[in-house]
Order: sequence, then structure tokens, then C-alpha cells
Amino acid sequence: MSLRSNTCDVLVVGGGPAGLAAAIALRQRGADVTVADALRPPIDKPCGEGLMPDSRRELAQLGVELEPSQGAEFQGILFADEQARVSATFPRGTGVGVRRPVLQQLLLERAAELGVRFRWQSPVTARKGVAVTVGGQRVTYRWMVGADGAASRVRAWAGLDPGTVRSRRFGFRAHFRRAPWSDFVEIHWGERGEAYVTPVGHDEVCVAGISRTSGVRLTGILEGLPGLQEKFCGAVRTTTERGTVTLTRRLRRVTCGNVALVGDASGSVDAITGEGLGLSFRQALLLADSVEAGELGMYEAGYAALRTLTERMARLMLLMDRFPALRRRALQAMSGRRELFGHLLAVHVGEQALPRFILRHGVEMGVLLIAPGAA
Ligand SMILES: Cc1cc2nc3c(=O)[nH]c(=O)nc-3n(C[C@H](O)[C@H](O)[C@H](O)COP(=O)(O)OP(=O)(O)OC[C@H]3O[C@@H](n4cnc5c(N)ncnc54)[C@H](O)[C@@H]3O)c2cc1C
Repeated sequence: MSLRSNTCDVLVVGGGPAGLAAAIALRQRGADVTVADALRPPIDKPCGEGLMPDSRRELAQLGVELEPSQGAEFQGILFADEQARVSATFPRGTGVGVRRPVLQQLLLERAAELGVRFRWQSPVTARKGVAVTVGGQRVTYRWMVGADGAASRVRAWAGLDPGTVRSRRFGFRAHFRRAPWSDFVEIHWGERGEAYVTPVGHDEVCVAGISRTSGVRLTGILEGLPGLQEKFCGAVRTTTERGTVTLTRRLRRVTCGNVALVGDASGSVDAITGEGLGLSFRQALLLADSVEAGELGMYEAGYAALRTLTERMARLMLLMDRFPALRRRALQAMSGRRELFGHLLAVHVGEQALPRFILRHGVEMGVLLIAPGAA
């Protein structure tokens, strides 16, 4: 969109990870793309900052590969509670922890290299029947992509319903200057919520806390996890704590006319899954195919399938949060059957089909949960 003509093929509203990923994917297919954001980079946001191996591969499809110095790799996931711990490595590839502003800068540089145009500090406004403006200037476009986050205004302007909220929790994050003690993302389960630790550099870790209770903050969650809390004794906190709401939300539709939603604007999964960013990248790639084909039906039709697995895994983890006795039993059972946890992790990162897991291990899982002594 040149400042003179204020016209483009695709106007992307929101320059977060989802908006930038969509801009890159669309530009890779030749569209003339403008990204507009009310803020100016670097844009930070509360996030656990972990990219699973599958998310990393989709990021690579967008042409973004991380140098070792830009983050910290992790080999798998560890679950721990007051009684048990169990871990597994990813069946293929490694995950990476990367600070949000670093990820945004990498996406931004890739988008700029491809010729995406940017309008920073330019809020987009629209009302039914009134022209869309970017930073106060009228614009015309063929397609609009709403990548404006969980409280999406584009969603409302397009007349798309806000969807059904299936879970609502409170998430926080802070960073500590200390060497990662593990090359796993560690998820510690406690009575006040979960804390998960992602290595993001050779001397820095990101700690995210999620709770169902609104008054609880990261410090409160950590107080309920003394074994984890002591890891931060004497470590300098490098960022101030930031928090937000994390939702599992599903929309009936994610397109309307020439408008499509991506990222948290299009619905979200609870942060505990660590798949929010990966979902955005997958949506971006599908949306670009759809726009290239000249219609959004392909995106609408394929959208639900992209998030089904992550939604199911989110449901499982939310059950573990809601029912501590079930969680204790599950962790204890899996710590005695580590290969089961490995298979579950393989399902989570898309390396094993869920029906196959249920067929092969469903009965064993059921017995372990209902009558651990009998297994
Ligand atoms: C505590 C927590 C931990 C998480 N941990 C992980 C994790 O470890 N791994 C993972 O993959 N995901 C994680 N997530 C999820 C992930 O952070 C989100 O899915 C992701 O941030 C969504 O990005 P987005 O681009 O859709 O939205 P956002 O990052 O919210 O970006 C939206 C952008 O739109 C702009 N905007 C809004 N309105 C307008 C307007 N009218 N005009 C112009 N610009 C506008 C905003 O300024 C903003 O820059 C976590 C989330 C939480 C809350």
C-alpha cells in the first residue's frame, strides 16, 4: 500500500506473530501486503516463549530459522508435581525458547525482505458502512486479515460472533537471569496453578504461571511450588511480571466476505499447550493458499482441523488442572511407564495420531488411572 494510493491486495490488521506470519505467507505467494499495528516494535506480550518442534518447522516454511544465539533449544517436556515427575524427549527435532521481541524482530525482518509494507503506530478503525482507516487515512484493499489478538475488533466489524469460551484462566510471565538447569521445558503442577519454565538463552529462563484464580500472581503460584521456587533464589529478575487472560475459545466461523481471522483473533487454546504460536503459523500458511485460490472457503473449511488436536490436548491438561487427584494419579502412573508419556508427547507434536494412541494404549492408561495397582 503506497502512501499515495493507500491501496493494497491484503490489509493485515495486527503486527503480532500471527499477523506477521500471515503477511509473510501471503507475500510468498505474490500478494501485495500491508501490515498495520497500533503499536511500534519491539512489541512484547506475556507468553511462555516456547516453540515446539512442529511450530519450528512451520516457522521454517515461512523462511525464519533461529540462530543458536537467538534462543535456547530444548529436547522435550517434563511434568512434575509434589510426588512424581516424568519426562520425554521429542520423537523428532527440538523445540526452542525465544524471547517475544526477538521472534517478532525475526518475523518482521523476513516480511520486510519479501517486500511487505508496514504502518506502525497506526490504529485501524472501521464501522459498518464506513471506510476503513489506517492511522486516520482511508484505505482500500481486496482482503482484510484480522490478526488483532484476543479482543479482536475486526471480528466485531466483520459481524463474526465472539465464539464460545470453554476455559478462562490467568497467565503471567517473568524472566530470570540464570543458566537453564535443564534442556526440557518443565511444567510444575501445584494447587494454585501451573508454572512452566522455558530456557530462552544460555543465561536466561522464562517462567510462565497460569491459574484459574484471578487474584493469584506468578509469585503466589511459585510459593505453592517450593522445589521450583528455590531455583530462583538469588537470581535477578530481568523483566517485570506481565499478565493477561488465556482462553480456550472457539468461533463458529473465522471468515466473512473478504475478511479472515488468524491467531488469537480467530479463537485460542489455553496457554498450557504451548501451541498458540504454532497454530498461528499453520493458519497463516492455509490462509495464503486460500487467498491465492481467490476465495476464503478453503481457509474456513480447513481451519477447524488445524486446531482439533491441540484443543483435545488442552482439554486433557485442563482436566489435570481442575482435578488434582486425577493429575497426581496420572503423573504417578506415567512416571512408572515413561514410554506412555513419550507417546502422549508424540501425539501432542503431531508425530503420532491420537486414534492410534488410544487404540494401542487407551486400555493401559485407563487401568493405570482407575486401578493403578492392577496394572
Ligand atoms: C501466559 C501465556 C503463555 C503462553 N505461552 C505460549 C508458549 O509457550 N508457546 C506458544 O506457542 N504460545 C503461547 N501462548 C499463546 C501465544 O502467546 C498467543 O497465541 C500469541 O501471542 C497470539 O498472537 P497474535 O499475533 O494472534 O496476537 P497478539 O500478539 O495479541 O497481537 C495482536 C496485535 O494486534 C494489534 N492490534 C490490536 N488491535 C489493533 C487495531 N485496531 N489496529 C491496529 N493494530 C491492532 C496489537 O497492537 C498487537 O500487536 C501463551 C499465552 C499466554 C497468555
